[in-house]
Amino acid sequence: MKYFIMFGPPGAGKGTHAVAIKEKYNLRHISTGELLREQIAAGTELGLKADALIKDGKLVPDEVVEGMIEHCFDTMKDCEGFLLDGFPRTLEQAKALDAMIAARGETLSGVISIMIPDEMVFQRIHHRAEIEGRADDASDDTIRNRIATYHAQTEPLIEHYRNAGKYHEVDGTGGTIEENRARVLKLMESIF
Ligand code: ATP
Ligand code: MG
Repeated sequence: MKYFIMFGPPGAGKGTHAVAIKEKYNLRHISTGELLREQIAAGTELGLKADALIKDGKLVPDEVVEGMIEHCFDTMKDCEGFLLDGFPRTLEQAKALDAMIAARGETLSGVISIMIPDEMVFQRIHHRAEIEGRADDASDDTIRNRIATYHAQTEPLIEHYRNAGKYHEVDGTGGTIEENRARVLKLMESIF
């Protein structure tokens, strides 16, 4: 099995481009954000707890998302591998993922990082708020907190994966969605 990570700040286009990649390469797309939103929509106890944290721009506890990922690895079959979107987001999660992959006798295939500056995060999320109506996209305070959370807890992963020789970055700013997608697919082609 192959294990790819879509990495980047909120609104970078991880989910958008993951769809094109998973179809082309027969990977299962695992978005922890989407899995959490399903729990919220279903009104589960986990969903209730996650909802409050997400609206605050904070992360849900590591063990919650780690459990979700492990469950996906155990149950998703008939594919070439996995495309993780929104996970890992902390060093602790990255280490847990390294251990899960090692326990399966496999190695991480690569990290596809889509980079945009903070100002663009606001633009992108404001635009998405009109289309998707996500609660955590609605307030600037939440967006600011998500950006701060990204810099404090998620950005250190760049170093972790660079040291492992797995880190690949594309510019997520220039041009249309299609032009950005072409850049992401070109990178994927060179590392698959
Ligand atoms: P994108 O814009 O690329 O979809 P995002 O950061 O805006 O990225 P999601 O990835 O959908 O949005 O995540 C939404 C929220 O769910 C996060 O802000 C966080 O609170 C929670 N969440 C998602 N994944 C994780 C994770 N791996 N660890 C902890 N919390 C998570
Ligand atoms: Mg997403």
